[in-house]
Amino acid sequence: MSLPESVFTDPPAAASGVFLDSAGSSLPPAAVLDTVHAHHRREAEIGGYRAAEERSADYAAARASVGRLIGAPSEAIAFTDSATRAWTQFFYSLPLAPGDRILLSGVEYASNAIAAIQRARQTGAAVEYIPADGHGQLDLEALERMLDDRVRVVSLVHVPTNGGLVNPVAEAAALARAHGAIVLLDACQSAGQVALDVDTLGVDALSVTGRKWLRGPRGTGFLYVRPSLVKELEPPVLDLHSAQWTAPLDYELAPDATRFELWEADVAARLGLGAAVGHLLGLGMTAVEEAVASGAAYLRALLSEIPGVTVQDRGERQCGIVTFTVDGHTPAEVKAALREQDITLVTSRRPSTLIDMTERGIEAMVRASPHYFVSRAQLETMARAVRALG
Ligand SMILES: *Cc1c(COP(=O)(O)O)cnc(C)c1O
Repeated sequence: MSLPESVFTDPPAAASGVFLDSAGSSLPPAAVLDTVHAHHRREAEIGGYRAAEERSADYAAARASVGRLIGAPSEAIAFTDSATRAWTQFFYSLPLAPGDRILLSGVEYASNAIAAIQRARQTGAAVEYIPADGHGQLDLEALERMLDDRVRVVSLVHVPTNGGLVNPVAEAAALARAHGAIVLLDACQSAGQVALDVDTLGVDALSVTGRKWLRGPRGTGFLYVRPSLVKELEPPVLDLHSAQWTAPLDYELAPDATRFELWEADVAARLGLGAAVGHLLGLGMTAVEEAVASGAAYLRALLSEIPGVTVQDRGERQCGIVTFTVDGHTPAEVKAALREQDITLVTSRRPSTLIDMTERGIEAMVRASPHYFVSRAQLETMARAVRALG
C-alpha cells in the first residue's frame, strides 16, 4: 500500500522548505483549510447559530469519523479544545481518596504530571512513576510489581513527546485492568501516525490533540471514554450542554461522552478536525503508518552517518519522531541554523518530560517529526544542513 503523489504538495507549502514539526503543529491539508474558511465565511453571512444548524449533519459526521479513527462509537467521543483539556476533564473526574495510588509513565507529558500532582495534593493520593526498561519503553514487569488494589488509575503514554518509541500499551493496559485500575492513554503523539483501536489497546479513556499528526486545526482535540464507564463519572466542570438543569436544586448529566464537553466551541475548527480525520482515513492509516515510520527510519540512518551527531531515539518499535543531539552545538543553535534555510523543527527540553530526561541526563534535544508528506529528497536536504554545521 502506498500514498498518492499528491500528498507531497498538499498544502503547496509542504513542497517548499522542509517541514519537520508534525509532532508540534503540522500543516493542514487544503481540505481542512477550505472547510474551516467556508464555515467562518458562512458565520459572517448568517450568524454562528444558523451556520451551525446548516452543518449539524457534518458536525455529527465529524464525531463519527473521529470515532472510526480509533474504533469507537460516536457516543464515546467528546470534542475538546486540546489534548490537555481532554486528559484533565477525564482525570479530574476520577474519585480519589487518601492512600490511593496514581501511576504515571516515566515519559509522562508535563501537563498531565502537573495535574496528577495537584490532584494528589488535594485528595491525599500518591503519584508514582512506572520505570522504563532497557529499551526505554514501559517496563511491564516493574508495572506488574507496582500494581495492587490501591492503584486507581494508570496513565500510559503511547508515543512520548521526546522520542520515537511506541510503548507496549495493550500489554500494560491488560495488566492494569486485571488489577482493577482505570487506564488512561495519552495518544497525542500516536493518533494520526500510528493505527489505533481502543478495544485492541484495552484502554478506558484516550486523549488526542488535533493539530499534530492528525493535521487538524489548532484549538481542537478529543477525549474517548469507554461507554460502560461514562455513566460512572462526573466531570469537574459542567454547563448546560454537559448537563441539563432539571429542578431548582438538581441537574442531569448527559448520558454519553458529551458530558465531558462544554457548549461553546469553534464549530469551524471542529468541522476542520472532521475533514482532517476524513482525509487520513481516505489515505488509510496502514499506508500512513508505513510511510511515516519508513521516512523517520531513513532520517535516522542519514543522521547517524554524520560525525558528531547522536540519534537519541530509543525503543524496540519506533515511529515518526526523530530526536538527536549534535556535538559542539546546542539544540537551540541547530534549530535556529536550520530555520534560516526554511527547515522547520523544534527542540525538546527537559521540563516537558522531566522524569525521562533527568534519568537520561539530557537537557535538550533536537526533534524532527516528518509526516508522510515529507519526501526523501527533503530529508536529505535536512541531513545535509546538519552535516554542514560542522
Ligand atoms: C502535545 C502533547 C500533549 C498536549 O497536547 P495539547 O493539545 O497541547 O494539550 C500531551 N501529551 C503529549 C505526549 C504531547 O506530545
